[in-house]
Amino acid sequence: MPVFYCPKCWKEFKDEIRNCPFCGFNLDEFDSLSYEDKLITALSHPVADYRINAIKILGTLKSEKAVEKFEEMLDREDILTILEIVDVLGKIKSKKAKKILERLKKSRSKVVSERAENVLDEMNSID
Ligand SMILES: [Zn+2]
Repeated sequence: MPVFYCPKCWKEFKDEIRNCPFCGFNLDEFDSLSYEDKLITALSHPVADYRINAIKILGTLKSEKAVEKFEEMLDREDILTILEIVDVLGKIKSKKAKKILERLKKSRSKVVSERAENVLDEMNSID
């Protein structure tokens, strides 16, 4: 029997239905979302690999819309995912992305603060 996932809360259910039985999300609505919005939704996926893939693609798209979501993720993600976000913020280059990188430069994690510093240096050398 196929298993379906709600793209919003990521709970699984067995029937092909149009509304998630857990959060009520309308799956037709998901179909009509833009590619960018679908990727932003995937940032809440329970599997880290899916989240990291979505982060990478959003970076390639230079999605300024995703920056806010990235900021939220910093409080709960592991180092690997955070480093991925740092790199992608350097690609997006918006004012907000830069602000987050400035904050990450002061991170307690040496790996994160060094990477954020490098990314900011690169951004500034291009300007
Ligand atoms: Zn749901």
